[in-house]
Amino acid sequence: MAARTASELRFYEELNDFLPAERRKRAFTVEVDRARSVKDAIESVGVPHTEVDLVIVDGRSVGFTHLLRGGERVAVYPMFERLDITPLVRLRPRPLRDPRFVADTHLGKLARHLRMAGFDTLYGNDWDDDRIVALSLAGRRTILTRDKGMLRRGEVERGYFVRAVESEAQLAEVVRALQLEPLIAPFVRCRECNTPLEDVPRAAVVDRLPEKVRAFYDRFKRCPGCGRIYWEGTHFARMKGVLERARAQDSAS
Ligand SMILES: [Zn+2]
Repeated sequence: MAARTASELRFYEELNDFLPAERRKRAFTVEVDRARSVKDAIESVGVPHTEVDLVIVDGRSVGFTHLLRGGERVAVYPMFERLDITPLVRLRPRPLRDPRFVADTHLGKLARHLRMAGFDTLYGNDWDDDRIVALSLAGRRTILTRDKGMLRRGEVERGYFVRAVESEAQLAEVVRALQLEPLIAPFVRCRECNTPLEDVPRAAVVDRLPEKVRAFYDRFKRCPGCGRIYWEGTHFARMKGVLERARAQDSAS
C-alpha cells in the first residue's frame, strides 16, 4: 500500500489572519512525510502555536505532539474561541485567572494602557526577543507582540498576536480576546514603572499638585517605585472611554 503523506488542514476564525488568502476558511493539504507533529504542521503554514487552543483530528481532540501520518482531516481552532467545547482537550487554560504580560518593544503605549487598567505588564524599549521570551517563561507571562516570528519560537508557551495598530484599539482588542474585562482594576498600578500604587493622604501630596487638581480631587495614590502621584483625572476618564467602546463593540459582534 502506498503511504499517503499529506493531511488536510482547516483553520477557523481569526487563525485565518495568518494564512494567505487562498488558504483562508477552506481545507488545504500539508505534507507530513509519514510522521509530523500537529504543532509542526500548524506552524509550517505560518500560524503560531500560541494562538491555537484546540485541534481536532478526525473528530477527536489531540495535543500538539500528536503525530500526523497522512490522510487525516485536521481542524484547528483559536484561543478563546467562544464555543462550548468543555468535553474536549483544551491546549490552554481559559480564561487567564491571573493575567500577567510582557509587551514587545513596539507596544509601549499598549503596556501603559494595560497598567492603567491594573494589569501587571513588563516592557522595555530595548529588550531583545530572547529577553522577552525569558521573562515570559520565568513569570508565566503572556507575550504581547505584533511579530509572528516571536510566537513561532518553540519554547514560547503563552503569547497573543496583537492585530490592531493603534494603541487604544490594541487595548480594546486584548481585553476582548483574553476576556480581561472582569479583572480590570484601574488606579492600582503605575503606568510608567508597573509598581503597585499605595494610598497617600491628600495632605502629604498637596504641595506637589497643580492648582486645578488640588481643587477637584480628594483621592490620591503614590508610586513607591518612581514617586509619581496619581489621581482619578483625565487619564482614567480616557481609559474608561476606551474600555466602554471595547465593551460596546463586543456586545455588537
Ligand atoms: Zn512608578
